[in-house]
Amino acid sequence: MKVEIVPCLADNYAYILVDESQPQAIIVDPSEPRPILEAITRLGVEPVAILCTHHHADHIGGLPDLLNRFPKIRVLGHPQDRSRIMGLSEGVAHQELVQIGDMSINALYTPGHTLTAITWLVDGCAFTGDTLFVAGCGKVLEGTPEQLYASLNEVIGSLQGDTRIYCGHEYTSKNLKFALRVEPDNKAASIKLQDVLMLRFADTPTVPTTLSDERRYNVFLRCGERAVLETAKREGCKGLDPVSVFTWLRIRKDHFRPSEVGRGRS
Ligand code: ZN
Ligand code: FE
Repeated sequence: MKVEIVPCLADNYAYILVDESQPQAIIVDPSEPRPILEAITRLGVEPVAILCTHHHADHIGGLPDLLNRFPKIRVLGHPQDRSRIMGLSEGVAHQELVQIGDMSINALYTPGHTLTAITWLVDGCAFTGDTLFVAGCGKVLEGTPEQLYASLNEVIGSLQGDTRIYCGHEYTSKNLKFALRVEPDNKAASIKLQDVLMLRFADTPTVPTTLSDERRYNVFLRCGERAVLETAKREGCKGLDPVSVFTWLRIRKDHFRPSEVGRGRS
């Protein structure tokens, strides 16, 4: 399987998964129609299905045009999103396997950002939408911090370390600046930030990463690490169990400004 990254809107990523044995493709999170239709034409593939990680407009905005252009296309998502995702034709259950051509797709329910968020697992790749970002995670908008903690650390956290992570937004450099605010001595985070700044300077996406890399610098997967606990304690986090630390980190991130990093230096 080949994964084509399709930058959309200001900082979204849609993806086109190309089945290399036949000219079929699956679209993940069609944010807007034009870049996706262009990529489909360039690749010379026939889209047969759309996987929706969640119902937010910046992830499904391309649906009306795609449904119009490909009326038989299958649209997969959470069964409770029938009223929120246009054209949803197949509601899938947690851990349900769906076969599309030669591609086996596994749906993992990962609530927190929304109650009906899904991480799609295809051929060793996890399409996490706004649940797990490179070096960060989505905001808790519908669910609870407990749910998002479990989605990240237990559901996605149980996947193999070499799982490639493809997320819904290019938020990586800001996320790493926050990670370094929490763990100033995390070498993996500072090396990663240098790499990411170079990539972004060249307008190159920072996806995919791997889950094992994320465990080294993504603070939302590091709630039990000593350095994270020390910062949490120093900054007044009540309770140092992983869920309390996660909840504190998520609120702290909501108020974070990258200019906080490196204060005192020129
Ligand atoms: Zn979202
Ligand atoms: Fe989003």
